[in-house]
Amino acid sequence: MDKRILFDMHTHSDNSPDGEHSVTLMCEKAIEKGVDILAITDHCECNAYREDHYDRSSKQSFFEISKAQAVFGNRIRLLRGVELGQPTQDILAAETAVRSNDYDFVLGSLHNNAGRRDYYYLDYSEENVDKLLDEYFDELFQLVTWGGFDSLAHLTYPIRYVTGREGIAVDLSKWSGAVDEVLRLLAQKGKALEINTSCLKMDPPFTMPGYDLISRFRELGGELITIGSDSHTADGIYYGIDEGREIAKRAGFEYAAVFVKRRPEMIKL
Ligand SMILES: [Zn+2]
Ligand SMILES: [Zn+2]
Repeated sequence: MDKRILFDMHTHSDNSPDGEHSVTLMCEKAIEKGVDILAITDHCECNAYREDHYDRSSKQSFFEISKAQAVFGNRIRLLRGVELGQPTQDILAAETAVRSNDYDFVLGSLHNNAGRRDYYYLDYSEENVDKLLDEYFDELFQLVTWGGFDSLAHLTYPIRYVTGREGIAVDLSKWSGAVDEVLRLLAQKGKALEINTSCLKMDPPFTMPGYDLISRFRELGGELITIGSDSHTADGIYYGIDEGREIAKRAGFEYAAVFVKRRPEMIKL
């Protein structure tokens, strides 16, 4: 039997403001763990592209991954990625960022609704959660309509904080119409949906999105999924990926995609 190919399509180095370890250490750890394909996808928050110097840090990230390819390339396949946050809040910045580097892989993500702070920072005792989620799914639809990315990262991100951290139960079925619109458009455009495994360490554990939405994406014609740990440390690389693979299989996927020069290559789950 062929060896199973191990991959992680969402990780952060210290070229992300919240990433802890260097590209070098990330590569060493990934090799130690037997990972075959590693995408480093540092943050580029488009709504703060120049103010917070993402123009510089994303160049630095790209450069360091390229150097690491030269050093580690015979032991691991490194993919030069980026996590584009809030691209529709500054489309010019998003398009400049993607054009500036010859990326293998672009994640599209949404960490804060327009004019608001990251969901991480919100005080949920003072927020109207229903309204926040209405805005979240509206803005996600705009993000997918724009479509300048390969895979949609951590769909249901607000749940990480609303439910995962604050313990506020949310019945996502209230947004099933809005979710369907996002998933259908994603499928029509031939984009991937990410299974983000970072919240498998929470109690209770969950993936973003959960099984129901992954399976719904399949029903609506979705063909591509990527799986990523969203690790911000070297030790966390490949965390939860095996579980993500099982969930994908249960939802009817036989393959996960890895992206090389913005094109999907299919890896058997
Ligand atoms: Zn993210
Ligand atoms: Zn991330």
